[in-house]
Amino acid sequence: RKADIECAMVVIGAGPGGYSAAFRAADLGLDTVLVERYPALGGVCLNVGCIPSKALLHAADVIEQAAHAGDYGVEFGKPKIALDKLRAYKDKVVGQLTKGLSGMARQRKVRVVRGTAKFVSANELEVAVEGGKTQLLRFTQCIIAAGSQAVRLPMFPWDDARVIDSTGALELADVPKSLLVVGGGIIGLEMATVYRALGSQVTVVEFMDQLMPGADADLVKPLADRLKKQGVAVHLKTKVVAAKATKPGIECAFEGASIPAANTYDRVLVAVGRAPNGGKLDAQQAGVAVDERGFIGVDAQMRTNVPHIYAIGDLVGQPMLAHKATHEAHLAAEVAAGLKREWVARVIPSVAYTDPEIAWVGVTEAEARAKGLAIEVGRFPWAASGRAIGLGRTEGSTKLLFDAQSHRIIGGGIVGVHAGELIAEIALAIEMGCEAADIGHTIHPHPTLSESVGMAAEAFEGTITDLY
Ligand code: FAD
Repeated sequence: RKADIECAMVVIGAGPGGYSAAFRAADLGLDTVLVERYPALGGVCLNVGCIPSKALLHAADVIEQAAHAGDYGVEFGKPKIALDKLRAYKDKVVGQLTKGLSGMARQRKVRVVRGTAKFVSANELEVAVEGGKTQLLRFTQCIIAAGSQAVRLPMFPWDDARVIDSTGALELADVPKSLLVVGGGIIGLEMATVYRALGSQVTVVEFMDQLMPGADADLVKPLADRLKKQGVAVHLKTKVVAAKATKPGIECAFEGASIPAANTYDRVLVAVGRAPNGGKLDAQQAGVAVDERGFIGVDAQMRTNVPHIYAIGDLVGQPMLAHKATHEAHLAAEVAAGLKREWVARVIPSVAYTDPEIAWVGVTEAEARAKGLAIEVGRFPWAASGRAIGLGRTEGSTKLLFDAQSHRIIGGGIVGVHAGELIAEIALAIEMGCEAADIGHTIHPHPTLSESVGMAAEAFEGTITDLY
């Protein structure tokens, strides 16, 4: 059969992995096609992930700041929330970015094909396009960037609109009186933060023994304390074992250490993780190996077991984060264009944009202790930071982990407002192989929260002489 489309490079999926890969491939001279099943480019991150969640978290932050401004004599009163306007603001932010992507694709002459792709051979895709038609696309090289989707626990009545995943939560259809969040990870807690600020009574159940499993417990504590103060009910070591739709709400049965007082909720948000889309592409037709969970294995150049087919982003493994997808995208496109590149990044930062934010990078303290690594820790409590005191947010803290012998930094974590902005310095320090003295002797601007990074290094060195 004659191909409808021929290209040197096809990228499947237009999320942060896919569009970054397509743009880089085109910039390096490859004739590139980007296939996306949805009308808007940008994938989960731009449409129903990172970006809309942060737009709503901004509103939540303003509400929270206004609520506390009375502490320093500024009274705003009870916020009036025009939900339509807030939703429109979020949609505008998303639209601005996704439209920008279409323009960038045009500029680079990346051909965007709207349709759902699946493999029919190692060099061909069949793309189901509008109107029930298919197009045959023949490629020389391919980058698979089909992403992931929310895990849907089968015990919930998903045909009831009151059971939602993160996409449903971001739609902001209304503000439920009561919201049960199943899963106390990053996504669940970010959404809990938004809905709590908008006025929902929020309950969080988490199966593990701490919120945000993966982050160090000492970093999570200030967040847990604040949620408690705000009236968010958190139940650890607890799971939902059954759920059914009833007239007054979604009725849930729980099992575990701490059973919530209520069992019926106006809305239930299930945020228990994401599953890769690798198993939905008929990848076996191309000979690409996909594991039983839907992940596609890759080497240090992002190649699958079929050398001219690469895979990137959420479907190649954890952590499922946009900046990891983008980094892998550039790497895959550069290798495909013939550049000598391979994965050399040492660390990938994680950020929870909760209130306070939690950010960590490299080895965590819990990991280091579990592995028996010889580490030393430098800490700086924000109670001693002039900037944090001025902001009224002294619950934060910064810690750095150093190799006990070399004094090189191997990890770090921050809890506090703007932790997500601050973590980049620690990531750079790890990439540069900095020793504690390099960080401690770097002049940080005063008064900033960034000083806490320098101070944590100085605390480790024992050279800390003054505070504030
Ligand atoms: P995706 O973004 O999932 O994109 C894959 C694309 O492929 C989709 O557009 C899909 O429609 C398309 N596709 C799939 N199959 C086919 C097919 N067969 N044919 C054609 N097209 C196909 N990460 C962060 O780093 N920071 C954050 O703050 C953050 N917040 C998040 C908040 C939420 C609520 C969620 C759900 C996720 C968040 N993430 C965040 C994670 C982030 O969104 C993902 O890591 C990122 O989107 C992964 O990019 P990707 O390119 O691998 O895949």
